Amino acid sequence: MSTLATLLSGLTAGVVEVVDLTAPLSPQTPVLQLPAPFANTIPLSLETVSDFDDDGPAWGWNNLHTGEHTGTHLDAPVHWITGRDGLSVDRIPPSRLVGPVVVLDGTAQVAADPDFLLEPEHLEAWVAESGPIPDGAWLLFRTGWSSRGGSQETFLNADEQGPHTPGVSVAAARWLAGSPVSGFGVETVGIDAGGAGAFDPPFPAHHFLLGADKYGLTQLQNLDRLPTTGAVIVVSPLPVVGGTGSPARVFAFVEKG
Ligand code: MN
Repeated sequence: MSTLATLLSGLTAGVVEVVDLTAPLSPQTPVLQLPAPFANTIPLSLETVSDFDDDGPAWGWNNLHTGEHTGTHLDAPVHWITGRDGLSVDRIPPSRLVGPVVVLDGTAQVAADPDFLLEPEHLEAWVAESGPIPDGAWLLFRTGWSSRGGSQETFLNADEQGPHTPGVSVAAARWLAGSPVSGFGVETVGIDAGGAGAFDPPFPAHHFLLGADKYGLTQLQNLDRLPTTGAVIVVSPLPVVGGTGSPARVFAFVEKG
């Protein structure tokens, strides 16, 4: 049997499951809130064109209003100043958007400390236990944060000091940028920690990863349904010409043990 026929028979038999890692996209989807004086993106909205009425008696359709960086979305290199001469979202090769997916679980640490930062020692401990990160892998940081996705307030988790959400340290961002990953994915609103604006450099995940032709993926969910290694990810941003990112549908193929 061909490789693809084997995959299809696995899907038919339920031996291979398709897991949707995408958060629902609606006007209630949490969006990043930058402090003044910075500008912010818009939340998603639908504008009715027709709804089986005089404007279109047999059809319903909407205009879609959204930012590139709303909901589950991909950050392309041109999103950041360190990657501004790199690829826009339409130019990312499809081969970089399909590949192995590996999961690092920080759920327990984040439950104890919402400002928890992944350090190189955590990544090295993961490699020691789970093996080397495969070429072209997407490394997903599981935190359980997606359970807060129903509320902008609990998802952004901000107080007078700013947002408190987990992420990576400067050293870990540099480590990931030097690793063989294609991309780094998170459950939170952005690939950097809530407090990362005060790091040196600020927003190190954006700074180092997008500057090294790696991609970001945010607001993922169902990461608890992935094995640590062995699954395959399919990341599908829209090919917005010149776009700095795009909402994305993200699937994983998971083989049942
Ligand atoms: Mn983004």
